Amino acid sequence: MTCNPALKLCLTFVILMTMNADPHTEKDDIFYMKKALAQARLALRHGEVPIGCVIVRDGEIIGRGYNRRNTDRTSLSHAEMTAIRRANKAIGDWRLEDCTIYITLEPCQMCAGAIIQARIPRVVIGAASDKSGSAGSIVNILENPDFMHQAEVIRGVLEEECSALIRGFFRDMRAANRQQATTFHPDGS
Ligand SMILES: [Zn+2]
Repeated sequence: MTCNPALKLCLTFVILMTMNADPHTEKDDIFYMKKALAQARLALRHGEVPIGCVIVRDGEIIGRGYNRRNTDRTSLSHAEMTAIRRANKAIGDWRLEDCTIYITLEPCQMCAGAIIQARIPRVVIGAASDKSGSAGSIVNILENPDFMHQAEVIRGVLEEECSALIRGFFRDMRAANRQQATTFHPDGS
């Protein structure tokens, strides 16, 4: 039996519409990663390693955060931890189901654990981290089937922009340290 061309066209249209019904488009991921980058730039303004994060539910940002480890003098002030706390407060629930978290840098073991504990089902990452990456670079806490909950992970969204920001921060810091070393005279001259 040959398929009626009109029916075939109609079916193709329905399939395409279904595909477009996916609420998470690449365009959305880029849009919200730019918001996370704006948070990372706030960290930079505080002289912190520029890492930023936003949490989105139904197209609305319900939590924002940026790295404030030195400012707050606590290792708990990672971007994701602040954003999770704020999102919890915004919706009055410890569960962040139906949310997507956007992070400019692959989360560390603490934050990846917090993401799973908060039941966030979708994680969008900018740059990978070979220092503390716990979404696959060193360990993969987010997609470990042995845990009761896992998250879907999307990697490499605005990767170059996210990693350039961090590279620039450390380059400037090394240059400042060199400058300080060359201008330091122990005899006071
Ligand atoms: Zn962290």
